[in-house]
Amino acid sequence: MIELRTPAEIEAMRPAGRFVAETLATLRDETTVGTNLLAIDRRAHDLIRRAGATSCYIDYHPSFGASPFGKVLCTSVNDAVLHGLPHDYALKDGDLVSLDFAVSIDGWVADSAISFVVGTPRDEDLALIDTTRRALDAAIAAAVVGNRIGDISHAIADVAHGDGYAINTDFGGHGVGRVMHGDPHVPNDGKAGRGYPLREGLVVALEPWFLQTTDELITDPDGWTLRSVDGSRGAHSEHTVAITADGPLVLTDRSFLGVD
Ligand code: MG
Repeated sequence: MIELRTPAEIEAMRPAGRFVAETLATLRDETTVGTNLLAIDRRAHDLIRRAGATSCYIDYHPSFGASPFGKVLCTSVNDAVLHGLPHDYALKDGDLVSLDFAVSIDGWVADSAISFVVGTPRDEDLALIDTTRRALDAAIAAAVVGNRIGDISHAIADVAHGDGYAINTDFGGHGVGRVMHGDPHVPNDGKAGRGYPLREGLVVALEPWFLQTTDELITDPDGWTLRSVDGSRGAHSEHTVAITADGPLVLTDRSFLGVD
């Protein structure tokens, strides 16, 4: 069921959005060559406790998950792109890291993801990250009253295909509200002008993610981490966006923190 939020409810979602933005900016600043993925998770958990926020991940146990997730954020490295379960691994020079983080505050959820390289970047990794960010910008620009879900999907796909990347539509954007994953599903590819009409008060997580040379994923033995079938690297950009009468409002915007 698709739920629409009042302007007052969207205001009430701002603290969660701001906390997710600040946390990802902090984690991005503190993560470097040698940082252990478990330390990133512990730091995020500490920030959650101090803020009185509630993790959306730690007890998360969907039908495809082997067991409750048990950590408070996803750390996907190199050829892992989604749902990376933090494990004992110290980041190496040139690693491409994606952090995906969601909490609720006062009962409202915000969900966002960022990709970056620690140490010396490879040009092809920076290009992939840049494409996912521009695809997210295009998705946000299309998140306006009068458009349809397909316009967002098409905007994402247009950027990806323009840069030569294939798209996997098994995992994409979703409604966000009292729970992390609600309707509607927002595929990362689709036809312009099709699908659910975007209305004032719709709040969605938009999350383009691409792999360098494939659109096929395999699941790690941990039952969670999704990585490319061919070992090529992936990147992921996500924001929680409210569609308002004044245009798209990026609730998890972190640009004011100097981290885009
Ligand atoms: Mg997310």
